[in-house]
Amino acid sequence: MTPRTILTFALVLELTAVTISDHPASGVATLLLTLLAAGYAWSCWAFPFRPCPSCKGSGRHVSSGLFRGVQLCKRCKATGLKLRRGRAIYNALHRHRTRTRRNR
Ligand SMILES: [Zn+2]
Repeated sequence: MTPRTILTFALVLELTAVTISDHPASGVATLLLTLLAAGYAWSCWAFPFRPCPSCKGSGRHVSSGLFRGVQLCKRCKATGLKLRRGRAIYNALHRHRTRTRRNR
């Protein structure tokens, strides 16, 4: 985690605390949504891949014909893995940031 990420997370927590003190019911919902989003972000960081839905993680398809031919899965290029949507969004944002940053 970069210092900027930590600062952003602290700001979100601070805003959540202010919201809770003003409107307790909506504040709790905001806190739960924040924790849910943070949990999903963590899980996308820790486990960036999911099994390919087309071949169910095997990387190949077995045809049901007479000779039972085996084909490699085209969607995952025979790896059996697909990038999760949250990780794909993170990667796109990271690519955008590294391309548009001024001070490197
Ligand atoms: Zn596949």
